[in-house]
Amino acid sequence: MARRKKIYEGKAKILYEGPEPGTIVQYFKDDATAFNAEKKAVIEGKGVLNNRLSEFFMTGLQAVGIPTHFIKRLNMREQLCRHVEIIPLEVIVRNYAAGSMAKRLGLEEGTQLPRPIVEFSYKDDALGDPLVPEEYIVAFGWASQQDLDDIVSIALRVNDFLAGVMHGVGIKLIDFKIEIGRIWENDFPRLVVADEISPDSCRLWDIETGQKLDKDVFRRDLGNLADAYTEVARRLGVLPSNVTHATKPTLIN
Ligand code: C5P
Repeated sequence: MARRKKIYEGKAKILYEGPEPGTIVQYFKDDATAFNAEKKAVIEGKGVLNNRLSEFFMTGLQAVGIPTHFIKRLNMREQLCRHVEIIPLEVIVRNYAAGSMAKRLGLEEGTQLPRPIVEFSYKDDALGDPLVPEEYIVAFGWASQQDLDDIVSIALRVNDFLAGVMHGVGIKLIDFKIEIGRIWENDFPRLVVADEISPDSCRLWDIETGQKLDKDVFRRDLGNLADAYTEVARRLGVLPSNVTHATKPTLIN
């Protein structure tokens, strides 16, 4: 049976051509990878959880005026999005030291930073997504200086939104990664938040206990990843079971 055309397959998602020009369908897989795919596993249910969580964050961002590529969720694993030109950067915002920053600077994980810090990695799996200074980005033409200024401003607004939402459910937003895409509207470029926002791309710690509720559970073998993501979804009220009672199917005749 003919199916829609696959545009790209990444580590956690597949992109298909969308039903209309300028759209794509983003499919969330259950595959988990870490350390540039050196560690791999299939975590049953992860794709379903990330699809819902990313929908929740993207629609929230749009509601507060931050544009994203998200159009609508199609089903348990797929969402319809605008087709964007991805800027080849991982945009990372950190509120507390953790992960690669803690290692690089010899800081204890969980140390609060003097202010949110935005950093960039060049998206290149073969190179292991190296950290790059802003000057490289402009000099090599990955983004213009104007784009970069806009990206920093978007990243900090996303941080304010996500940190606030997570704080409301007793979770500390340690850091996160977003990707930014460019769309063209009547020959004018516009930057939007693209890809996904989920516990795969954030560090989330319980405020009371410090329990990790993100991909570090998988990276560091700390327990069951799907349970951690389910807890995040449960606190945010976005578990599918919470939604089913909202609208009953309408019977025709
Ligand atoms: O590993 P590092 O400390 O640099 O990661 C910072 C943040 O960016 C973490 O929340 C991590 O999950 C996210 N990240 C990501 N994809 C990558 C690298 C980092 O989502 N390729």
